[in-house]
Amino acid sequence: MTRKKHCPICKRETVHEYRPFCSRRCADRDLGNWAAGAYAIPTNERISDPHDPDD
Ligand SMILES: [Zn+2]
Repeated sequence: MTRKKHCPICKRETVHEYRPFCSRRCADRDLGNWAAGAYAIPTNERISDPHDPDD
């Protein structure tokens, strides 16, 4: 049983050559997002704020 997969970027059907994406463009875009995220990790973590009332 084979399920068709869809590009996580644009949701179109993937192309074997570029899976899990549908195209080189989306593959590059995802890589760009990952690279950008790698430099923005601290904003996604819970920052220990000295003024946080819950701490
Ligand atoms: Zn795509």
